[in-house]
Amino acid sequence: LRAKYAPIIREDGDLEGLVVLLQDVTEHEKLENMRKEFVANVSHELKTPLTTIKSYTETLLDGAMESKELTTQFLTVVESETDRMTRLVQDLLQLSNLDFKQGRWNKKEVCINDIVKDAVLKIEVSAKNKRQQLVCKTSEEDTITYADKDKIEQVILNVLSNAIKYTSKEGRIEIAVQTVNNIGKIIIKDNGIGIPSKDLPRIFERFYRVDKARSREMGGTGLGLSIAKQIVEAHDGKIEIFSEEKEPGTSVVITLPTLEKASVLN
Ligand code: ADP
Repeated sequence: LRAKYAPIIREDGDLEGLVVLLQDVTEHEKLENMRKEFVANVSHELKTPLTTIKSYTETLLDGAMESKELTTQFLTVVESETDRMTRLVQDLLQLSNLDFKQGRWNKKEVCINDIVKDAVLKIEVSAKNKRQQLVCKTSEEDTITYADKDKIEQVILNVLSNAIKYTSKEGRIEIAVQTVNNIGKIIIKDNGIGIPSKDLPRIFERFYRVDKARSREMGGTGLGLSIAKQIVEAHDGKIEIFSEEKEPGTSVVITLPTLEKASVLN
């Protein structure tokens, strides 16, 4: 609480009273700290690949270029670090568009089953590369929602790619669509490394990661789930994540209103 005082002085110079202004600054301070933390995170995330690129190019220019083998090896690192920076910048731009409500939503009537099937088609090769089983169970009847198909597909791809990343080789990933009381549910379940319960409450925060090194190694930016949450919420939906110690793995549940409940006004 911030306090400001102003005395009220009578004409004869005596003190008549005091005006006290109490201002609640906790919310303001919290936002300010979040902003500072975000800038620190972005700078750090950009600096790490830049440092690597700089040192590898320096070594190349210092003579390593004479060996064709080293040149290929070093340039491969430079390429993958630039790819990482590109992904980060793309994710940041997307978050900023969502924050400023820029960019138009292309909302139409779409069937959730179709979005899920398209997403699975796009990502099944990554699961295959890890010899993981990717099982897709769509709902029997059509589950129609009013949504931007590409954006919801992206949400599913972000969650599915996490399931693949954080599940070992030969693991199992299941994606199911269900409709209950005018609510469409997409459930993505894996039997991977899981998330400790202490980390669950913060998992949708920007740059929050259980294991930074592992996420980086997997090519993650730490922004996938926060982007997913913002997109789902812009569709009046909800995204939740569960991970239980007694059962290995993680489940993500995305709920979207089906057409009867959707607000067609957005
Ligand atoms: P990242 O790019 O690091 O994957 P996300 O925002 O997509 O960023 O996810 C944040 C963190 O949540 C990850 O770094 C990881 O620690 C954890 N996480 C997300 N999905 C899973 C999952 N299916 N299994 C285990 N951990 C997960």
